[in-house]
Amino acid sequence: MAMPLKTYQGSCHCQKVRFQADIDLEAGTGKCNCSFCIKVRDWIVLIKPEAFQLLSDASELGDYGFTSQSVNRHLFCQHCGVRLYSKCHLPELGGDFISIMVSVLDGISDEQLVALPVQFFDGRHDNWFEAPKVTAHL
Ligand SMILES: [Zn+2]
Repeated sequence: MAMPLKTYQGSCHCQKVRFQADIDLEAGTGKCNCSFCIKVRDWIVLIKPEAFQLLSDASELGDYGFTSQSVNRHLFCQHCGVRLYSKCHLPELGGDFISIMVSVLDGISDEQLVALPVQFFDGRHDNWFEAPKVTAHL
């Protein structure tokens, strides 16, 4: 049975970037081993764009894509450098979605975090629907 969405607040370290998002964390979070995720220790939860609301000025955000033309954009605070979320598009996942860093959500206890279900993606081998052989370091 799907749990009702809960509204979470998220923020960077210096608090210049804040957002609010409706999320069902119990539905599962994700970790990936691709060339980008491995460097930022990505731990994400995916939501629809309409479940996301940026509460601060968009001008505080830096925007990174693998290339300037990349559809998927990774947003971070230009002041403290903390990465908060990515705007993504993947037809296999129903089009547009937002990938939120679980680590920037506020008010979640350590006990709640370790209990979250995690799905692993073998992004390094473009094998997005299977777990890599080794996951303990992700
Ligand atoms: Zn910041």
